[in-house]
Amino acid sequence: LVSRKKKPDDTIINIKGEQIGTGEQHFVMGPCAVESYEQVKQVAKALKDQGLTLMRGGAFKPRTSPYDFQGLGMEGLKILRRVADEENLAVISEILNPNDLEEALDYVDVVQIGARNMQNFELLKAAGSIRKPVLLKRGLSATIEEFMYAAEYILAQGNDQIILCERGIRTYEKATRNTLDISAVPILKQETHLPVMVDVTHSTGRKDLLLPAAKAALAIGADGVMAEVHPDPAVALSDSAQQMNIPQFHEFMNEIKKHAAVY
Ligand code: PEP
Ligand code: MN
Repeated sequence: LVSRKKKPDDTIINIKGEQIGTGEQHFVMGPCAVESYEQVKQVAKALKDQGLTLMRGGAFKPRTSPYDFQGLGMEGLKILRRVADEENLAVISEILNPNDLEEALDYVDVVQIGARNMQNFELLKAAGSIRKPVLLKRGLSATIEEFMYAAEYILAQGNDQIILCERGIRTYEKATRNTLDISAVPILKQETHLPVMVDVTHSTGRKDLLLPAAKAALAIGADGVMAEVHPDPAVALSDSAQQMNIPQFHEFMNEIKKHAAVY
């Protein structure tokens, strides 16, 4: 069902008026984790200043260590919704547990399925039964074929509103947090009819590489770029080394707009 052979036309996903999959280029920006109303509000205002609509923020955080900040959960989703309604933005947030999905739909516009859950088949099936878009990230060590099968699980349940997101894979290379598999973008665009985005924060894990990686993503045909922004990354409760602060975010956006077709 994900195959372009079955459906030659691009799938277009409408999120608050942004039409993803039409060839325009979109930006999903926001903090790694929701920490407070004030924190999200500051980021939301910066997004508005750049004319962006799609705000990300993690409420349920899949942390490697059980002792790390696990996110604010439903409270975090409520903060995102409140700020998004005040600023007229869309909310994209990761859900970890299929049991939280129904309640989360009151607060999110797009359900994110993270890399660690790309093969959580019960979660994929549950996301297939909802009527909201799903942003599906590539697994940490998933092949492109496995990634497409994960999307197939969602589509097989009737939800065709899927955005694929390349976020880097595990390799022997240590210079970056993960290895951004940039050629996955045109392969996924050729093989499937779904929009494809690139997460430059989790793939590179390096602030100095966000801009070049984003340029590469757009140049190679990605429908959008995801990156993390935090008002004060130094004190962030997760991913503090790689989130942009607000002035860096404005610099990033001003620079990338020179390369983006439409945003
Ligand atoms: C995230 O986007 O918040 C995240 C945890 O990313 P990933 O699932 O790609 O590691
Ligand atoms: Mn993060």
